[in-house]
Amino acid sequence: MLGLMQDQPLLISALIEFAARHHGDAEIVSRRVEGDIHRSTWRDVAARARKVANALDQMKLAESDRVATLAWNGYRHLELYYGVSGSGRVLHTLNPRLHPDQVVWIANHAEDQVLCFDMTFLPIVQAIHAKCPTIKQYVALCDADKLPADTGIPGLVSYEAWIAPQKDSYVWPKLDENAASSMCYTSGTTGNPKAALYSHRSSILHAYAAALPDVMCLSARDSVLPVVPMFHVNAWGLPYSAAMVGCKLVFPGAGMDGKSVYDLMESEKVTFAAGVPTVWQMLLGHLKPNNLKFSTLTRTVIGGSACPPAMINAFRDDYGVDVLHAWGMTEMSPLGTLCTLKNKHLGMSAEDQMKIRLKQGRAIFGVDMKIVGENGQELPWDGKTYGDLLVKGPWIVKDYFKTEGGHPLVSDANGEGWFPTGDVATIDADGYMQITDRSKDVIKSGGEWISSIDIENIAVAHPAIAMAACIGVKHPKWDERPVVVVVKKPGAEVTRDELIQFYEGKTAKWQIPDDVVFVDAIPLGATGKMLKTKLREQLANYTLPTA
Ligand code: AMP
Repeated sequence: MLGLMQDQPLLISALIEFAARHHGDAEIVSRRVEGDIHRSTWRDVAARARKVANALDQMKLAESDRVATLAWNGYRHLELYYGVSGSGRVLHTLNPRLHPDQVVWIANHAEDQVLCFDMTFLPIVQAIHAKCPTIKQYVALCDADKLPADTGIPGLVSYEAWIAPQKDSYVWPKLDENAASSMCYTSGTTGNPKAALYSHRSSILHAYAAALPDVMCLSARDSVLPVVPMFHVNAWGLPYSAAMVGCKLVFPGAGMDGKSVYDLMESEKVTFAAGVPTVWQMLLGHLKPNNLKFSTLTRTVIGGSACPPAMINAFRDDYGVDVLHAWGMTEMSPLGTLCTLKNKHLGMSAEDQMKIRLKQGRAIFGVDMKIVGENGQELPWDGKTYGDLLVKGPWIVKDYFKTEGGHPLVSDANGEGWFPTGDVATIDADGYMQITDRSKDVIKSGGEWISSIDIENIAVAHPAIAMAACIGVKHPKWDERPVVVVVKKPGAEVTRDELIQFYEGKTAKWQIPDDVVFVDAIPLGATGKMLKTKLREQLANYTLPTA
């Protein structure tokens, strides 16, 4: 017997109509590329998203055709999120921090038909347009009078001129909820990038989950600042969850430095922000010397790479802000786990609570996870045994777009498909998962594993260290030994021996790095993560003093 409930597909268009109807006057504030602050509302975003949908219909774009963006976080990008996906096309958020050759490869692989870009990225578009044969329309995200006369890009129109003649009414199509809604390519540090192709259903379920109290705890009373870019896994789903709860959204545009982010947080009374550790490093670097405090921020989600305990402490002790450590992947829409305490932890000492807070957290309902050993056997949840982390759930990929060279899932004994994350982790008896490493970054010393994340966390707890990356270097006896590569804070001093000394008592003796390499900067990838592949290349001629 089937249930007798209404069969309503879960569609992204429903989100924007809901936000417009129930939270129509909640604000969307954007720092524009032009430098000024722009204010609109969910009602305005909905009206202009309908104009976008009409413009795409007029171009006769077919269902599932890809509309690409090269854009910062801003209101026009948000309108495209809804106008493109809501009308049945697929929003393809290109990462402008990639090399132009990679952008070309990705745009061609996705067969993008339209490319909408912020004027900041005009030089990229000028460099690539001749190599992207599928793109038939370029749209500059600006006012008509801001469009330069001769860009060399055929048929280029301004966004405002493009949508101006369109009606702001539209009947959103009743799509299959499993229809593709958006796509995002993985950073692709090895091999060609691969695309996660999200559906309306997966995006809505993820939006519900992300808003839960033990996840991002979003409500209509929040003012939310996604520093995480809308070109990186849909800004962790915040544009969708925000519409679902009807909160205020604040977009930083191109201003991602500490001062710009802080000023916006204060002027727009931001209560909640989300970003990768490197961005928050810049924010803290601006607060401390200027003796600043937050007046409204209560919590921030930090994820994308391991959040050092020193950062969690600084936010809580110095600024009264709760850090929610999150873990996920492009392939997971992206949220998998988030770290909040359970009732039984509340009476613990701050020090014991900290041991939990720095883990990547508990699975969100919808995400199933397990750790397995070399032969695929499931490993115990004892907080010590580490293994390859596998996941499954309705917002996790089952395949990549136009998969070449095999499918990602591995089957268990019941024929259930699990996605191998490529991460090595432990899970404790309470279900808290802790990432030890990317499997390719784990350091193997004398048959034992050393977590590069643990070594980095200790280094950045030293007052003179701004950033640290730990890599394994070949060793004749031990196979590999850890070396920590560090960037000092401006004006701060620490010697190699002092830093090695700093590890004493904080980790097992055999895990203490053999050497310290001081550098001016650690290479970062297109999503702000440390690029260890590049770092290893840079240190190709380095030899260990202990070798
Ligand atoms: P991406 O798909 O580019 O977002 O990268 C996903 C990968 O980032 C994961 O597989 C992890 O290796 C890493 N990652 C994400 N969040 C965290 C975190 N909180 N701690 C450690 N690693 C993380």
